[in-house]
Amino acid sequence: MNENIIDSHCHLDMPAFDQDRQQVLAHARAAGVMGFVVPGTTQASWQKILDLSDQEKDIYPALGLHPYFCSEHNISQVEQLQTLAGKMRPVAIGEIGLDFFRPDIDQELQLMLFELQLRVAQDLALPVILHTRKAHDQVLKLLKKYPVEGGISHAFNGSWQQARQYMDMGFCLGFGGMLTYERSTRLRALAAKLPLEHLVLETDAPDMPGSAHQYQRNSPEYLPEVLDALEEIRDEDRATIAFNTTINACRALNLPDKTRPIPDPQDV
Ligand SMILES: [Zn+2]
Repeated sequence: MNENIIDSHCHLDMPAFDQDRQQVLAHARAAGVMGFVVPGTTQASWQKILDLSDQEKDIYPALGLHPYFCSEHNISQVEQLQTLAGKMRPVAIGEIGLDFFRPDIDQELQLMLFELQLRVAQDLALPVILHTRKAHDQVLKLLKKYPVEGGISHAFNGSWQQARQYMDMGFCLGFGGMLTYERSTRLRALAAKLPLEHLVLETDAPDMPGSAHQYQRNSPEYLPEVLDALEEIRDEDRATIAFNTTINACRALNLPDKTRPIPDPQDV
């Protein structure tokens, strides 16, 4: 039997899925994926994500401006975000954050847009979905300045100490395809010892494919492979990891029960 799991981060709105989105959803559901959190990246993505979540009961929208696409963003879009998110109540403001790995993206602009969006999340009492590369300390500092309702640090790649600080602020940490690579020794060691109540599963599809799908389009249907990797490196059994990561995602993003009920502890 497949475990009920949630893909806490997949970009199902992207053109990579335009040809076969229904098929991808069907395969993923058949593999046990019971929920799909689709974060926004640019203002242009928001309506498509909201439409998808209207059409599919297991798709949960997040709205935000991704640091990658800074050159496409502006301050008036943050105001639009505030209005739209206030009206539509997405599950989170995201994905937002800081990417200091890419030297070509203006850091000042990233910082400004991130701060403004944290304030939107605060104002609307919504959690956040964070994208952070080479900037965990800066992100943590801003989270202390603008405390939000928790959320998820997606594709977590920081240190144990940084993980501790996110967890102390009520955040979950997202792990995906990178865990399936033997060479990800540092990441696997971290995911092996973090408390289970702070872990969530994700694919980041269509990006970040796992070892079985290198150089291919990633897909939420491969989410069970992330569960396989966690089962391999952790002490708990598969059902326990699946159950806990699912309720963690529901808790972190207050996922409304749009589909099946959250699995009962007795069923595990
Ligand atoms: Zn993403």
